[in-house]
Amino acid sequence: MKVAKFGGSSLADATQINKILNIIKADSERRFIIVSAPGKRYETDTKVTDLLIQYAENFLNNQNTALIEEAIIYRYQLISQELQLNKALPIIKKYIETLKKTPHRSKERVMDLFKSSGENCHAMLIAEFLTHNGIPSTYINPKDAGILVDDLPGEAIIKPEAYLKIKELKKLETVAVIPGFFGYTKEGEICTFSRGGSDVTGSIIAAGVQADCYENFTDVDAIYAANPGLIANCQPIKELTFREMRELSYTGFRVLHDESLMPARQANIPVIIKNTNNPEAPGTRISSQRTTHHEPVAGIAGDSGFTSIYLSKYLMNRQLGFGYNVLKIFKELNLQFDHMPSGIDDITIIMRQNQLTQEIEEQLISRLTTELSLDELKVMHNISMIALVGEGMKNNIGVASRATAALSKKKINLEMINQGSSEVSILFAINNDQENAAIKALYEEFF
Ligand code: ASP
Repeated sequence: MKVAKFGGSSLADATQINKILNIIKADSERRFIIVSAPGKRYETDTKVTDLLIQYAENFLNNQNTALIEEAIIYRYQLISQELQLNKALPIIKKYIETLKKTPHRSKERVMDLFKSSGENCHAMLIAEFLTHNGIPSTYINPKDAGILVDDLPGEAIIKPEAYLKIKELKKLETVAVIPGFFGYTKEGEICTFSRGGSDVTGSIIAAGVQADCYENFTDVDAIYAANPGLIANCQPIKELTFREMRELSYTGFRVLHDESLMPARQANIPVIIKNTNNPEAPGTRISSQRTTHHEPVAGIAGDSGFTSIYLSKYLMNRQLGFGYNVLKIFKELNLQFDHMPSGIDDITIIMRQNQLTQEIEEQLISRLTTELSLDELKVMHNISMIALVGEGMKNNIGVASRATAALSKKKINLEMINQGSSEVSILFAINNDQENAAIKALYEEFF
């Protein structure tokens, strides 16, 4: 039994939807279909979810919603007409009509209600389409599926107890079509995962029904060893471990939502990335253990938009609670940090830059300086993190030295090196402008 999730580009129009029909027909084990909202049909197109966000904003600000509503309905209408469906569209229109009549709630609630309707409407339509084409299918609302989440609008998290109910989906005799991207709180409110969260739904359902695998259909043949837009003929990766994928997606590999691995990983269910436009391609398999060897490095990722904050104080190592006091200030200002390499008398905090407005940055600097009596504080923006990832690194001597030599040959200055204790990755912090050059240099060295 397989769970197959189709992303927005795989469901953007009638041509794409016909491809998914063939994919589902080709394997009767594909029993659970998770759908995204219609995505982009061409580069400059707008995703239905983005239209819905605009719609909700206009609605909340008492601005005109007619045009945007028309554009959204038109997307479903076009698909329905081309696929010769007539049941789902009136339901979709009625559904969108009721959205507008929703009693006034908090901004977040309204936003989630609108956002979730992209997936919800599309799942109804896809269930009708599959049934119409010889695959008896049932639309299952996430509430009935048992996707119970914490009440965090736009950032929902599945509740552990949800899996018991989800397991019951196994009893279903038809194919189940479940909208991705949202669940329900225990008060019965819709709550969405963060953007791209249909991947998360797919993983949750796969874990709940104990699927043999979770197939994630997207628009690339595989995950590549580095950004294929940057490296010509970049090597596709056949297999990765969950740990490797987690490290790669944290530092810029955007094929999968980074929260989507956890449910499958905990339930030990392999995740397979496949291409709707080329389903014959083997794709990339992500599981607990891989059999293919790509040593010592499996992939190289890079992500920009980090800030580093260097703090130095003589005899810091002897001051009880220094680290605690640093992090307390971060917590009180609601700031998350990503890395914290340290020396004897200094600590560097690396964090995502988008958390810092000018005002927050000033507060942070002032509190750190005064409350910790620092000798020195240095802030650097526009940092990129480059990750060299591979399970094989722990059994290979000299990976770091090869990497630093390759970077130094290209005159790339390293602000920080961090080798996680798991030895699955080595991270380099460098200036944003040198990110592409660094990835190229490392790719040449290791592939
Ligand atoms: N439609 C949602 C988004 O664009 C969720 C998803 O596609 O996974 O973020």
